[in-house]
Amino acid sequence: MGLTDKLTFHNGIGIPQVGLGVYKVSNEEVYDNVLSALQLGYRHIDTASFYENEEGVGKAIRDSGIPREELFITSKVWNDEQGFTNALEAFYRSLNKLGLDYLDLYLVHWPVPDLYKDTWRALEKIYEEKKVRAIGVSNFLSHHLDDLLRTANEKPVINQVELHPRLSQEEVRLYCKKNDILVEAWAPLGKGQYLDDPVLQEIAAKHGKTPAQVILRWELQSGIVIIPKSSRQERQKENADIFDFSLTDEEMERIDGMNANERLGIHPDEFDY
Ligand code: NAD
Repeated sequence: MGLTDKLTFHNGIGIPQVGLGVYKVSNEEVYDNVLSALQLGYRHIDTASFYENEEGVGKAIRDSGIPREELFITSKVWNDEQGFTNALEAFYRSLNKLGLDYLDLYLVHWPVPDLYKDTWRALEKIYEEKKVRAIGVSNFLSHHLDDLLRTANEKPVINQVELHPRLSQEEVRLYCKKNDILVEAWAPLGKGQYLDDPVLQEIAAKHGKTPAQVILRWELQSGIVIIPKSSRQERQKENADIFDFSLTDEEMERIDGMNANERLGIHPDEFDY
């Protein structure tokens, strides 16, 4: 059990269940950040054109010396890059910046109204052309998925949404489960804001773990892909050290009970696209 453990998409491709997120890490800082994670054994990196750090991520990947096929690299098409032609161009821009000849996963970052279906056609094209091993979405609610599935040729393999103990996303998780779409948590640590919660503190003390590790373990046992971010190597290590303990059913239920439908980010239907 560890950082190379994978969940499998409906198209048969595996994704390491734990990865590293690099939102808000500058292009300069991200090089050391990604190299340190790869040295610790991380094999899955989550970036996006919006993060403006794809060049640094790519350089770290190359300098790590790790064979490309052992890595899982995700990027995303941003809101002002949507539509069929724009999204195709955006994909190749990301690929060039990363210095790669294929991506493992490419996501529609947000469901931009009136555009996300055209964007999806572009993702289907690059998937058919084998430039990406899997395509998915992010910040899609059930109604967006319903709408997309009505006309799509390819079903998304994953939906990356804000998810943490205060926002457990029951509804979208159920929808995705029924449709064989994996769920991936962004802000899996709730951006570090809930670590003093007494329930998490108590469970952490019982296992000799930290509240951050308990949250990540709860997500892992819930079958969710996680991409915690940390720029500090000791925390990257801590966030990966979650394979040597298990939460009981009762502990899982107590953390489920922390849900308050509390968003740290924007509601997808209220985003000012
Ligand atoms: P996160 O929940 O991963 O929290 C990261 C923060 O938690 C860090 O900046 C640090 O302050 C703290 N932290 C990390 N490890 C810790 C530890 N062990 N102990 C205590 N504090 C710790 O939040 P995030 O970075 O917003 O989300 C993770 C990733 O998800 C991003 O980096 C990005 O790749 C992705 N993301 C995607 C979207 C989207 O719209 N698809 C939006 C936001 C983030």
